[in-house]
Amino acid sequence: MESPAAARLVPDDFPTGVALLNNPFLNKDTAFSEHERDALGLRGLLPPRVNTMEEQVARVLENLRGKASDLERYIYMIALQDRNRALFYRAVLDNLRELLPIIYTPTVGLACQQYAHIFRRPRGLFVSARDRGRIARVFRNWPFDDVRIIIVTDGERILGLGDLGANGMGIPVGKLALYTACAGIHPEQSLPVTIDAGTDNAGLLHDPLYMGLPQRRLRGEAYDALIEEFIAAAGERYPHVMIQFEDFANANAFRLLAKYRDRACAFNDDIQGTAAAVLAGMYAAMRATGGTFAGQKLLFLGAGEAGIGIADLIVSALVGAGLSEEDARQRCWFVDSKGLVVRRRTDLKEHKLPYAHDHVFLPDFPAAVEALKPTAIIGAAGKPGTFTKEVLEAMARLNARPIVFALSNPTSNAECTAAEAYTWTKGAAVFASGSPFPPYPFQGRMFVPSQGNNAYIFPGVGLGVTMSGARHVTDAMFSAAAETLAAAVTADEIARGCVYPDITRIREISLAIAVSVAEVARAAGLATRPLPEDLPAHIRAAMYEPLYRDYA
Ligand code: NAD
Repeated sequence: MESPAAARLVPDDFPTGVALLNNPFLNKDTAFSEHERDALGLRGLLPPRVNTMEEQVARVLENLRGKASDLERYIYMIALQDRNRALFYRAVLDNLRELLPIIYTPTVGLACQQYAHIFRRPRGLFVSARDRGRIARVFRNWPFDDVRIIIVTDGERILGLGDLGANGMGIPVGKLALYTACAGIHPEQSLPVTIDAGTDNAGLLHDPLYMGLPQRRLRGEAYDALIEEFIAAAGERYPHVMIQFEDFANANAFRLLAKYRDRACAFNDDIQGTAAAVLAGMYAAMRATGGTFAGQKLLFLGAGEAGIGIADLIVSALVGAGLSEEDARQRCWFVDSKGLVVRRRTDLKEHKLPYAHDHVFLPDFPAAVEALKPTAIIGAAGKPGTFTKEVLEAMARLNARPIVFALSNPTSNAECTAAEAYTWTKGAAVFASGSPFPPYPFQGRMFVPSQGNNAYIFPGVGLGVTMSGARHVTDAMFSAAAETLAAAVTADEIARGCVYPDITRIREISLAIAVSVAEVARAAGLATRPLPEDLPAHIRAAMYEPLYRDYA
């Protein structure tokens, strides 16, 4: 019998019945109470038994674990996100270790490759080359007025997978889910955008189901004009929005960052977010090796966005530690696809020039390891198996505790596996990777490899930037984020071989990073929002919690 006492706690125009069940921001599925079912026209539209959120999460996990593949799990999670936001985020937050690899790397890479074939419902905003002259109108179609963070890709370099065109939408969608899960950015305050400037991927152009523009990529002025119009339209609709560039090919990534970092509130996660994550890992590694940060010599394999971004931030941190810029640069060496990056080479792109040192040319990575005797090797070339037995044995011969970061994603692109790093260095390596590896038992010890995931950094940085209303995103903010992250690694974690904290503490870590970033913004005079004395409490109070609220 309907309860006459079913008073509503919500306004008269609050959706009811099927419209309420179809609203992912308000839907509670089987958790609607008896009162709510009466007050909101839901009686009969749901099975009779009222579930708690915990019971619903248990059902989600049972469903997920019964799926045959990670891609099926991804599809299931996206459907849940479309249906019930709070439950999606509750499930993710309470099961981060299990679900991050499903909703983000490595599974998201596969989902992007298959995007046109697994497509159910559109998500995010598509801005295509055909929208030139009307991008502001496209933005007006987005239903939410308080967007604070945009993640934008043009799909040209998706993870280590190359040009996936409009299929790249999975990346901003996934990363924004991490913003909400890891840092409590409200789902309505974030907007995933894909700029479809075409694709040069012949496989996609020949795929009849491909959903992007069936044309080759715009280049040169036409491309720049499209990006410029996008930036202007985003700023017009959302004046204080932070724009995160994601997975642009490296020439455009460096160029766009240089062009917009001082004009807009913008950063590039592949360059700056990666750099901060790796800098934090280096700081923490010092606690394992007993070395000093200023005493490190790093040899990078791959001189792209990740490698150069990391080196630039390391140089600025070394300068902060008292080294001259020249001395600091001398600590970072690169091997690219042609060999050691040295001054006499004439084929170097501009972003590599600061690291082209005076040295004889060496044709490959093993030769560079022997000649330069690095304390750390950092793999960011997307080439699997390049940290060979020879390289790792040499690193163990040259260092008591060699630092080995194999950052390339997905797992199949890693420069070496965790097992190889530990076995070939006889357990001496301080190892971290871009994609997750399981714990590895070796010589009676259990080694726990760390994942140098950007998810440790960008959610907290974005939260700090949006809470302070920072006008720009600066390198000093990323350095502060790296220091805060490194400080969060416990002595116990270091003893087990980790250089990153347990991801299950990510909310508390993101909050700490946000506080440090907001403090940098305030000190630099970049903050435009009032920041009270008790910053942690102020920021914590604004973080989205995936909980149901009572409607009746
Ligand atoms: P990028 O395309 O900008 O750079 C790759 C670089 O590697 C290029 O300069 C290329 O010339 C060079 N290269 C290619 N083949 C090589 C070879 N055989 N030897 C030496 N160098 C070679 O890409 P990026 O953004 O720098 O990303 C590189 C890798 O790092 C990707 O696999 C990506 O998934 C990974 N990554 C990891 C993290 C992380 O772990 N947090 C973050 C960002 C990127």
